[in-house]
Amino acid sequence: AKAQGRNTFGFYTAEMNQVSLEKLRLEHDLRQAVARNELVLFYQPQVNVSTGQVVGVEALLRWQHPQLGMVSPAKFIPLAEETGLIVPIGAWVLREACAQSQKWQAWGFPPLKMSVNLSALQFKKQNVVQLVQSVLQETGLPAHLLDLEFTESLVMENTEYIIQVLQSLRDLGVQLSVDDFGTGYSSLSYLKRFPVNTVKIDRSFVQSVHHVREDAVLTRAIIALARSMNLKTVAEGVETIEQLNFLMQHNCDEVQGFYFSKPLPVFELEQLMHRQTHF
Ligand code: C2E
Ligand code: CA
Ligand code: CA
Ligand code: CA
Repeated sequence: AKAQGRNTFGFYTAEMNQVSLEKLRLEHDLRQAVARNELVLFYQPQVNVSTGQVVGVEALLRWQHPQLGMVSPAKFIPLAEETGLIVPIGAWVLREACAQSQKWQAWGFPPLKMSVNLSALQFKKQNVVQLVQSVLQETGLPAHLLDLEFTESLVMENTEYIIQVLQSLRDLGVQLSVDDFGTGYSSLSYLKRFPVNTVKIDRSFVQSVHHVREDAVLTRAIIALARSMNLKTVAEGVETIEQLNFLMQHNCDEVQGFYFSKPLPVFELEQLMHRQTHF
């Protein structure tokens, strides 16, 4: 058995070793990133379709690695989830986003909804209700200004338990959004079981409303269904005027995407808000 065990090393090519070494190093660095203040939040505006006003922002995590530069969340969020680091990192994100939002309120900004992404692991490994409650208390942010985004897949396993947790979050007064809607396996009718306020239509549909008939049909269906259930709709990844017009025509409530703005660092978001409110 021992010889066999040793033999298995034969499967590792130099290239694979390189990849796993890189990953190990990234994991090591990520463990220190919070303490070293290398994580920052960018904020992407969410715009009301009928008024054109910024009504909210989504907090999106960025990692400024001392050697590697800006590491994309697409690269380090999966790693953070694999290692469980998303739990402390997610708590930091929530605190930072709520503190920022409260600061803007204190400055007299118009009420801006602050959307924060929650990973499924945060529901599993942590009392997320307690966390949200204490962060609201610490920061003084009014609960109704906080919007928590989660994906459909969270609710797919352990449905009853998760729905209870979501209900407790609603009881705190925060808003809930289903993120990336349409990409999961749940049927549209599943929506009525979730105690949510908002459906975020995934950008893969939005981006092909003019090229793929099925995506246009689905996008319209999601908006219509959500409306019939008194849920708000937010379309993600809006990049063109044509996409915006389509969404406007079909009564989508809010849009988010490069057409209006990329995710912005605090200072640039503040400048944008000053231009909007002339204050
Ligand atoms: P997401 O929650 O679906 O966030 C939207 C992503 O779409 C963001 O990517 C945003 O920059 C990008 N985006 C927005 N508008 C457009 C557009 O018009 N065109 C295109 N091509 N992209 C657009 P980002 O910031 O790279 O984040 C990627 C994902 O990483 C997020 O997807 C989310 O799943 C995850 N993530 C980011 N921050 C956090 C966080 O604080 N906690 C957790 N758990 N996940 C996070
Ligand atoms: Ca999101
Ligand atoms: Ca999304
Ligand atoms: Ca996504």
